[in-house]
Amino acid sequence: MRSSVFFKLLAGFLVVIVVATVVLDISIRRAWEASLREEIQTELTEKTRMFAARVRASRGQDMEQLAREAATAGNVRATIIQSDGKVLGDSEADPERMENHATRPEFISALQHNEIGASTRWSHTIGIPFLYVAAPIPGGAVRMAYPLASIQELTGKVRRTLLGASAIALAIAAILAGILAQLVARRLRRIEEFAARIAAGDLTARIAESSRDEIAQVAEALDHTARRLEESFVALEASRKELESVLNGMQEAVIAVGNDRKVRWANGPMRELVKGEVRLGADLVESVRDPNVLGAVRRAIESGQSTTSVATSLIAGRTYQVTAAPMSPRGAVVVLHDLTAIERVEKTRRDFIANVSHELRTPLTSVQGYAETLIDSLPPAMPQARDFLDVILKNARRMTRLTEDLLVLARVESGEQRFATEPVRVATLLTEAVAAMREAAKGSGSDVTVEPAPEAEVLADSQGIQQVLTNLIDNALKYAPGKIVVGAREVADGIEFYVRDFGEGIASEHLPRLFERFYRVDKARSRESGGTGLGLAIVKHIVLAHEGTMRVDSSVGHGSTFYFSLPRADKTAASSVAESPSFTKI
Ligand code: ADP
Repeated sequence: MRSSVFFKLLAGFLVVIVVATVVLDISIRRAWEASLREEIQTELTEKTRMFAARVRASRGQDMEQLAREAATAGNVRATIIQSDGKVLGDSEADPERMENHATRPEFISALQHNEIGASTRWSHTIGIPFLYVAAPIPGGAVRMAYPLASIQELTGKVRRTLLGASAIALAIAAILAGILAQLVARRLRRIEEFAARIAAGDLTARIAESSRDEIAQVAEALDHTARRLEESFVALEASRKELESVLNGMQEAVIAVGNDRKVRWANGPMRELVKGEVRLGADLVESVRDPNVLGAVRRAIESGQSTTSVATSLIAGRTYQVTAAPMSPRGAVVVLHDLTAIERVEKTRRDFIANVSHELRTPLTSVQGYAETLIDSLPPAMPQARDFLDVILKNARRMTRLTEDLLVLARVESGEQRFATEPVRVATLLTEAVAAMREAAKGSGSDVTVEPAPEAEVLADSQGIQQVLTNLIDNALKYAPGKIVVGAREVADGIEFYVRDFGEGIASEHLPRLFERFYRVDKARSRESGGTGLGLAIVKHIVLAHEGTMRVDSSVGHGSTFYFSLPRADKTAASSVAESPSFTKI
């Protein structure tokens, strides 16, 4: 490439120099020839005029003598011609032998216009080009001829000198062009070396041209670009280090993987977590074997959305919340948050609630029993005592329900209550739940109808889902008695069940918190109707344990619809045991 640029430049220079020399040579030669011819013609004209004057002045002198004298003086050929064309005298030939000159153009022109006539042509006698000039004299004309061969000779000489000078100029120009081409090629080579260093990642490379021509301007622009690139790179590197130290300083373990599930980066806590086994560029599964972590990464990459999960097999006895978020342009970043301590506190809390509920059961049963016995054995004359006992009995019953609900919730929440799921017909679940609530419906004067359900099976623990449906129907009977519709329909991810009422509805501000423990829209009404505030929390946890989702749709004055979805049985062939609730739901 180097020599190619050099030779191209050199060849270009040489072509230009050769063309310039040739053009110069031709034009100078032409100009020179023209001016020489003009000069000769002027001189010859002058000599012819003088020759004519001399002939006119001669009185009966020998014409040949006159011609010879004029020829010797002017160093030309001289001829005297009679008006009929007959040659009277000539400096070089015998006039008697010479042909008639009446047709010579210079002669005709001199006679016709009585003025100087000139013509250039080949001489028949000698066979070389001649310049003829004729001047009129009384009774004819005189003519002088000059051989133009001398012009050619002179021109040839000039041309040779010119060519010699051109050759020397060409040689000097070629040497200069070579030096110049070499200089340009060397500068281009420096730019090429600069580009190679930049491409190899050396952003400190500079061309540093000192001149101010176009190549220097290009070099300056490239240096500027390299400088900017280096600055951006330094800034980028600084922010990368900053980010890295922030991520390393986090308590959470962070690992980034590409679309190919190969590890791109991991922070310090992550390396500690897997005992330093994180191998950059290797498959994630080589570092992390927990199926929930791998599943979350897969889902994040495939769906392009953040997913969360819980990992319990990373380190024995420790629980991690896994958050996998898609990373641009492709891949995912996983954050592992240690939940062990929170889980421990949660477990202590659940155990405490379960223990308290359990311990309260026996005394509450006995309070309830004694109150009932006392009511039965009270004499009718003590109405006030009966009222007190009724209040005691009512509250004892409420407390019993509360302890029972708390026990159920604690068991479902902790995963202690395992749900054995199996394929169950949708219609069976609906009709059995409605049948179980028939008496209660009658009591509240409501009409519970089952809408035609899809002929499908869901993966469910019948008892668990019965509890969900009856809790929802019970709520509808308590808070929106009247027409109640129960049904199910097919949706994208399974079967969605619904319990719809046409009561007062729930204001939108309550909806996000409705499934929390002890959250009640109207506390007094809930208490009055025997509610504990735990029904919907239990419902939610049972549905989550079935890998289902839960939602509510309600507007004041138009009633409410509670929905929950369950996976279809034909999606997963074998029956399975539902695990503890997943964090991906609700
Ligand atoms: P509770 O034992 O009080 O019924 P839940 O958890 O079952 O507790 O319900 C929480 C609250 O949600 C209830 O107190 C009630 O205010 C409201 N609620 C539940 N279902 C309905 C419904 N179908 N219509 C109107 N409000 C409802």
